[in-house]
Amino acid sequence: MDFLLKIKQANLVGRGGAGFPVAVKWEAVRNATGSCKYIICNAAEGEPGVTKDNYIIEKYAKRLIDGIKIAIDFLSSEKANNNSQVKAFIYINNEYYKNYYKKLLKLIGDLPIEIFIKPFGSGYIGGEESSLLNAIEGQRIEPRLRPPFPTTNGLWGCPTLINNVETFYNVSLVATDEYKNFRFYVIGGDCIHDGVYQLSADFTIQEILEKTNNIPNFPFFVQVGGNASGEVLNSGQLKKLVSGAGLITIFDLAKYENIKFIENLLEFFVKESCGKCTPCREGIFRFNEIIKSEKIDWQLFFDLLENLKETSFCGLGSAIVTPAKSFIKNVFSDRPII
Ligand code: SF4
Repeated sequence: MDFLLKIKQANLVGRGGAGFPVAVKWEAVRNATGSCKYIICNAAEGEPGVTKDNYIIEKYAKRLIDGIKIAIDFLSSEKANNNSQVKAFIYINNEYYKNYYKKLLKLIGDLPIEIFIKPFGSGYIGGEESSLLNAIEGQRIEPRLRPPFPTTNGLWGCPTLINNVETFYNVSLVATDEYKNFRFYVIGGDCIHDGVYQLSADFTIQEILEKTNNIPNFPFFVQVGGNASGEVLNSGQLKKLVSGAGLITIFDLAKYENIKFIENLLEFFVKESCGKCTPCREGIFRFNEIIKSEKIDWQLFFDLLENLKETSFCGLGSAIVTPAKSFIKNVFSDRPII
């Protein structure tokens, strides 16, 4: 059976955060023309609290390399039809490189896979899909304008398939008919049994917390998806699936009910805004001012969020909108009426 069909039948979606259908991306790169085609396994994992890729490389490095090899074979096959040279990169953060390079190099052997270390100091944005293309090409590390998308115009202008570590892991499971629609969840924060768990992707947040024995016995709320970009939900809203990168962080309501939560959130965005575009560079700065002012101007607060959502050049600037709005709506006791 055509492997693309197998991925389609498995309903595989990317696990980097966006949840884009894997088959659509693979097909687009296969159909694109270019003298070279590239595959990038994104192992930069930079969002606070998200550690599942680290776990997968530690426990299942062979599966990861198998998944990348399957992608190489797929893009080298006759159906990819243009005799392209195919090469893969594992784009990895420095810490994971130090911990796993020996193991990875052994598994890679003579496969056309190169390990590329995410440049030091490139921060969260250094792991963003289009910034990492610049990093590998040796250019200034900042997001690229899209379209064109990497599937047709990626590394050095060639069609490029970019998937996350967990996605390649899942691809290898599909190839051996062992994929069961499970995903990795990272549970952290104010809980006893924190860690990385592999459970059904169909479980709700409530079910995951129950199965991992992590339902708190104190008033709490959660942030789901990622500690920077994830949605904030109160304890009565847990009958939803986990989005984004699979993170569930539990917060003790007594500690975080006030605006402190957004102040902490902002620290990440102030630090990681790359400065390329005005809405994010200035907007995040002004947002920080509003939050720290004696009397918060809520109208300005929501206007600014809307602006960040609509005009930020890349996903980082707009990522603050979901956690900030959902925290105010679902948790904040001093909810503003505007
Ligand atoms: S949204 Fe922020 S991180 Fe993205 S390009 Fe603009 S300044 Fe850089």
